[in-house]
Amino acid sequence: MKKILSIILALCVTLIWTPMGFSRTKFVTIGTGGVTGVYYPTGGAISRIVNKKSKQYHLKVTVESTAGSVYNINAVLSGDLEFGIAQSDRQYQAWYGLAEWKNKGPQKNLRSVFSIHPESITLVARADANINSPADLKGKRVNLGNPGSGQLQNSRDVLAAFGLDEKKDIKAEYAKAVEAPSLLQDERIDAFFYTVGHPNGNIKEATAGRIKVKIVPITGAPVEKLLKKYPYYAKSIIPHKFYPDAVNESDVPTIGVKATFVTSKKISPKIVYAITKEVFENFEQFKKLHPAYAVLTKENMLQGLTAPIHRGALKYYKESGLIKYLKPELIPEKYKKKYLKYLK
Ligand code: GLU
Repeated sequence: MKKILSIILALCVTLIWTPMGFSRTKFVTIGTGGVTGVYYPTGGAISRIVNKKSKQYHLKVTVESTAGSVYNINAVLSGDLEFGIAQSDRQYQAWYGLAEWKNKGPQKNLRSVFSIHPESITLVARADANINSPADLKGKRVNLGNPGSGQLQNSRDVLAAFGLDEKKDIKAEYAKAVEAPSLLQDERIDAFFYTVGHPNGNIKEATAGRIKVKIVPITGAPVEKLLKKYPYYAKSIIPHKFYPDAVNESDVPTIGVKATFVTSKKISPKIVYAITKEVFENFEQFKKLHPAYAVLTKENMLQGLTAPIHRGALKYYKESGLIKYLKPELIPEKYKKKYLKYLK
């Protein structure tokens, strides 16, 4: 009897615990964006790196194309998705309960893992539409972005900065970014906004068609005011070399944010640790997976975050010494005593 009991016990232990991972393979999904953006291949890059160690971690990462940042944050918070990619400005707003989260209040379960590539507010217009600044959008048909996307609020911020009313001054459309290039090429819209990393398939598609297309600079006094008002926007440049078919002759100045990788406080630290570790330990390989990652450093991947770092990621940052790059406010209250001493 004793023997049978100990066999059962041994069996249970092996089933429950295997070194470094879970007894049964866990599936987690990353919410991304439209397939022609950079979030979708970013989800792919993260999953590819982590899935190489699937057996070791008993973890399988899958990727889903979604409506974008706002959708991803909400899906992560509701438990529909385990991870999401979201603009740094949307992360800020969710954490503080602003904009889309104004009625719901601060989203205290939101957690940062790391930040990724820079994203620029990209305004693309038909070259013959005489749009040389956001101010020229007056009276035009403009795609602002689909509900759930990050760009919808960015387009609204730019319009407001240039004194334009979304309802009265333009004919606003709310189509998904993936549809915008063909809407432009079919002359069904005059311009569209997309907050996205560069280069990407979407803007290539928009600039490479029959209709000549221009990437419109977002600069000037209204932008300076905007930068003062919102802490999360910064000046950025869209390199002309990425879109040689656009009628622009040089790099395009605009403003932008950063893509960030987020999760919920409720996700197991083992899972978050595994993903963080694999991305950072295979950093050079990860960087090669998309040209928008060319500017990434381990240090800048810990910048542009607002929600506290998930404890699983924190464990890796402490082990690797990267923790010194974190701002103290990113350490969750509960772990301040344990970790604050390792910061610079
Ligand atoms: N920034 C966009 C959004 O938040 C997505 C960009 C992309 O898919 O690369 O909706």
